Amino acid sequence: MEFKNFKIGQKVMIGADYVDNYEVNEYANTFYVNYVSTSTADHPGYDEAMEGMPLYDLKDEDGIDFGSSLYEYELEELPMNKFEVEIMEKGFLPAVSFPGSYPIFYIGHDSSISCAKCAEEHASEIVEHGVHWEGAPLTCEGCGMEIESAYGDPDADEE
Ligand SMILES: [Zn+2]
Repeated sequence: MEFKNFKIGQKVMIGADYVDNYEVNEYANTFYVNYVSTSTADHPGYDEAMEGMPLYDLKDEDGIDFGSSLYEYELEELPMNKFEVEIMEKGFLPAVSFPGSYPIFYIGHDSSISCAKCAEEHASEIVEHGVHWEGAPLTCEGCGMEIESAYGDPDADEE
């Protein structure tokens, strides 16, 4: 049997035929794979009769663990934006550019500014990112962290 083998960070939903088996708000049927098990060595509850079908632990979009583990047949893949893909592939969103180490900020669909850490937590809502080249620091609307510009603020009063 061929498995889809979702990766950690993959965005999935519970299939229509199975969603009633779980307590899921129909508007919140969006999860990210958090852990993959294929044997009892990975997960004591793994059913060896599943013959290697991956069993997934999930977290929701707020990073909260979903209480149940689900086998692959119960899940469907959801499309991801480039920031979600970047997290899946690298495990994080960068706070600085490479090369150059210039400060990066992220913009949500509601035009909010986020630092990299906060953008990771709601990557599905991020639509753009950029380097903060010059000007006053930007303030992350998630945590309040200031994102300094690469070249400072030319209008700031010099001491
Ligand atoms: Zn932040």
